[in-house]
Amino acid sequence: MGNYEENYLNKRPQHLCHMCGKCCRVVTTSIPYNKLQEMAKNNDKGAKDFLSLFVPFSSIDEARNVDAEIVDNIINRLKEDENYKEDEITFYTCKYLQDNNLCSRYETRLDLCKHCPSSPWVIVPPGCGFEGWLFWQREEIKQKIRRSKEELLELKLLKMRTNDEEALQKIVAVENKILKNIDYYKKYGSENW
Ligand code: SF4
Ligand code: SF4
Repeated sequence: MGNYEENYLNKRPQHLCHMCGKCCRVVTTSIPYNKLQEMAKNNDKGAKDFLSLFVPFSSIDEARNVDAEIVDNIINRLKEDENYKEDEITFYTCKYLQDNNLCSRYETRLDLCKHCPSSPWVIVPPGCGFEGWLFWQREEIKQKIRRSKEELLELKLLKMRTNDEEALQKIVAVENKILKNIDYYKKYGSENW
């Protein structure tokens, strides 16, 4: 199966990055700001790292003044989620980004910077060099999930034809592994692929 590094991070073609700095200039998180602060207080590494770099804008309009295209792109995408709440969204900017779009601490940048864009489903700024590649990564995962669903049907038939208890247990174990994988992508809509 492979891990996150093997399946995703190491495959990312870094040359696709235009070094435009947009993903450092205006960003948001799926976790509300107050929750992030709480997590940081409780020593959550991800929250602490993020807040050590990113400074919140005082309002969505302030972020819009810096780059309205990025803000509106993010908001439009988030609105697709029925649980979307505008008052829970905070935009941030990185204090280490320079006016020339380059990072002032590139050599010591954190893993969260090195991992950006960190998943095929991350919302990247319009024009980001990874847009097309991320699209194909999502399609590849969807294909795998569709194949897994076909395998589930085959396993179901196999179960009906098997009386051997040991064989049945093995089939159930494989089924559970497949179901777990499908469930992992549920938040991205795997039930409908
Ligand atoms: S927005 Fe995309 S292309 Fe621009 S710096 Fe970030 S990763 Fe690179
Ligand atoms: S530290 Fe550098 S790479 Fe990381 S978000 Fe800030 S400007 Fe971008």
